[in-house]
Amino acid sequence: MKENRILMQYFEWYLRPEDKLWQQVSREAENLRKLGITDVWLPPAYKGAGGKYDAGYSAYDLYDLGEFNQKGSIETKYGSKDEYLQAINNLHQNNIKIYADIVLNHKIGADEAEMVYASEEEAQNRNKDKTLPHKISAWTKYNFTARNNKYSSFKWNYQHFNGTDWDESGRKNGIFRFSGKHWDQNVDKENGNYDYLMGADVDFNNPIVVEELKKWGKWYLEFTNVDSFRLDAVKHIKSLFMADWISYMRKIKPLECVGEYWSRNLDTLKWYIDKTNSTIPLFDVPLHYNLYEASNSHGNYDLPRIFENTLVKEMPNLAVTFVDNHDTEPGQALCSWVQDWFKPLAYALILLRKDGLPCVFYGDYYGIAFQKINPKKEMLEKMLNLRKQYAYGGQIDYFDHHNIIAWVRTGDDEHPGSGLVAIMSDGPGGGKTINVGQKLANTLFYDYTGNIQETVYVDKDGNGIFYCNGGSVSVWVKK
Ligand code: CA
Repeated sequence: MKENRILMQYFEWYLRPEDKLWQQVSREAENLRKLGITDVWLPPAYKGAGGKYDAGYSAYDLYDLGEFNQKGSIETKYGSKDEYLQAINNLHQNNIKIYADIVLNHKIGADEAEMVYASEEEAQNRNKDKTLPHKISAWTKYNFTARNNKYSSFKWNYQHFNGTDWDESGRKNGIFRFSGKHWDQNVDKENGNYDYLMGADVDFNNPIVVEELKKWGKWYLEFTNVDSFRLDAVKHIKSLFMADWISYMRKIKPLECVGEYWSRNLDTLKWYIDKTNSTIPLFDVPLHYNLYEASNSHGNYDLPRIFENTLVKEMPNLAVTFVDNHDTEPGQALCSWVQDWFKPLAYALILLRKDGLPCVFYGDYYGIAFQKINPKKEMLEKMLNLRKQYAYGGQIDYFDHHNIIAWVRTGDDEHPGSGLVAIMSDGPGGGKTINVGQKLANTLFYDYTGNIQETVYVDKDGNGIFYCNGGSVSVWVKK
């Protein structure tokens, strides 16, 4: 039976160690299944440079999943290795698959600095040397003493990296490219070459590195039994390496994946998809920005254009749609938070249409205590139920008015009573005549969201006048 999949990003930036995320997701697994969540994206599970205060993106030791006393604690921010494995097990018991967050671009928190020859690059054009090669002291040596070679004896050093941004001996910030190394090609073209992001930049041109990351990937898959990968910062990683690595992993297990390529430029995303042979779906960043802009336009957004220049419109099978995430929440570098009033509209747009794999954000469902953002459980549970029970069959768009747009899902035979009419306005309320098709003709509809109490009668030809309030969404289903 065809199932409407739903991914949930199960963390936000400001979680605290005492929130014990692995324990929480274990407890919640059954509830998530009932909500219709089929896939959960868990944050990076290995030890970061900031120990138990690290969200996981400052990757230190990929083999330490909260098992060794490194960086000030045994546990990571989210808990211990055993709790992580238990969470995965509990999710699996509830038929939920796991996307593991994989940070391969860089390493941070080296145990020792090494003297390395390097040239400083122009910050805005990393293809251009600003200085001649000179000795710098770079944090590039990783010993993992406390792990004592368990799982792997591989030790990282300067030869495995392209460059760094800190010279310890000169106490100087900059973009330093190690002598004899060149930046990865086929990365984002911002700043001339956007290979370098942060920390010690991993050199994917080095065959020893490629071999080690394959070994690690195999170990990680087998040790944790995760099902899919969320690939961090792919715009800073040689596309050829990423495609090759994923295809290697897929020989071990038929993995799904999604890449985080943070660009609102659709052509750039298409370029990356082409470079990786359409094997790596991407988050629909352009759609996020459309939602963000619509929510900040005080009712003046041209709603029929909400999917313009988005991945889900152009390449629906390679798009993971989302409203917000841990980087776009208030206080974060990419802050572009979709306003509260627009959240129901935004979630209807990603959950109730046929294209894309929608991703629900933890910070929307549970709220973000640190930023005083309230949970939206009730609204999201309604939208998730609507997707699970009603969002089936063909899709007919009524994107014909600058304030009010609507679409019909015609329902299918596998899901009796399915089908819906979603209608929303970013300006004043209003309605339009909509044909729901023969399957749903001659019936009464009610607004599942509860925003409107009256019912709508659909005549024998399938026509009804559906409406919504101002700045609101209504989703009409068969009574
Ligand atoms: Ca890089």
